[in-house]
Amino acid sequence: MLNLLVEMRGATAAHLAFSIGLYLIVINIVFHLRPRVATTLSVGVCLTTVLMTWQRLVKFDDQTILAITFLIAATIITLLANFRHDATMRHLYLLILREQIRTQDMEQANQELSEISYTDALTGVSNRRRFDLEFELACQNAREQHGVLGLLLIDVDHFKRYNDTHGHPAGDACLKEVAARISEQTRREQDIIARIGGEEFAIILRDTSPEGADRVATRIHAAMQAQWPQSLPPVTVSIGLAIMAGPSASSIMQAADTALYEAKERGRNRTIAAALAA
Ligand code: GH3
Ligand code: MG
Ligand code: MG
Repeated sequence: MLNLLVEMRGATAAHLAFSIGLYLIVINIVFHLRPRVATTLSVGVCLTTVLMTWQRLVKFDDQTILAITFLIAATIITLLANFRHDATMRHLYLLILREQIRTQDMEQANQELSEISYTDALTGVSNRRRFDLEFELACQNAREQHGVLGLLLIDVDHFKRYNDTHGHPAGDACLKEVAARISEQTRREQDIIARIGGEEFAIILRDTSPEGADRVATRIHAAMQAQWPQSLPPVTVSIGLAIMAGPSASSIMQAADTALYEAKERGRNRTIAAALAA
């Protein structure tokens, strides 16, 4: 290479300038090396060529001067192209990054919003909207799979009296406590606990036998009997239990509601199971 460089005269100088120009285009534009590497290589080659030429040549002819001018111009132009490309790539990268962050933020905000829109603000369990959706899905699923679906309707006993006696804020605190105690009695992810009315809760128990649903109801009564916080007078609940088995679409909701009414009629603080709806 060095030998070749010192031969830089006439047609050889033009060829050499042309070859190095191509080399500059390849490293600075085609492969667009990082600006620091590209600058080191380009300026290095350009300076070496010019210095070697300066030392060895006795006299400069027009072609040699033209070749050197071309070489310097090629170095500057290809380096500028390299810098510009690098700046564009950085800008693009920042734009993409900003877009990704914005999309992530929006997805998270959407998720939080949908979480809020399906949650009961007072108790933190699912709200009526989520219950309706999940119940529809669970019924459909049980029908299609010929599965078993359990439903518990839970109503706080004499809650109007509770509010009248202890005040509405105590009533709210009581509902929170009831929701927490109910939630502790279900053990599967797929069980949906919802507040579907003022002092009324429901639990959807997918793939649950009548015995299984009854066990959950028994645990809920026991949880209500457990020690309550000093500031909060205890309550009891009545539960209507219904099971849907097989392909029937008969109203499990109505069956549970009737059972709940019967539990109230028979003195409250108990569970009544509806006849199996098949
Ligand atoms: P039963 O044993 O027959 O269920 O009698 P109950 O008094 O519980 O039933 P009723 O339907 O007569 O009264 C329900 C009460 O629940 C009336 C209402 O003031 C109270 N309630 C409903 N929603 C809320 C609420 O969000 N917070 C409070 N503190 N009370 C509520
Ligand atoms: Mg009630
Ligand atoms: Mg009620």
